[in-house]
Amino acid sequence: MADIVRSLRPTCPACGFAVFNRRCATCEKCGIELPSSIAYTKAELVALQARDRLDEATRERRIQKARAERNRRALGPFRDSPVVDAIDGALDLSDLLDLGGD
Ligand SMILES: [Zn+2]
Repeated sequence: MADIVRSLRPTCPACGFAVFNRRCATCEKCGIELPSSIAYTKAELVALQARDRLDEATRERRIQKARAERNRRALGPFRDSPVVDAIDGALDLSDLLDLGGD
């Protein structure tokens, strides 16, 4: 009867513990080395890690691109203007007042 109830989750052949993390080469309960049919092999882990890094790099690039795009949009028509540099610290109120003087 017991084998009719089959889980989609692989289980440890020694203790029957459900394997949640297939990247873990050993059973998280009893500690035996899991067969490659359950846990990922070293080669598979390396491939997975490489893919993770790639995903991470892609995500980072997308974020940076979105940020740059948002900055460009925020600056609007001034984005290529030297005024932007002036606003960015150099200009203060006294400069503006001096413009109208004499
Ligand atoms: Zn186990």
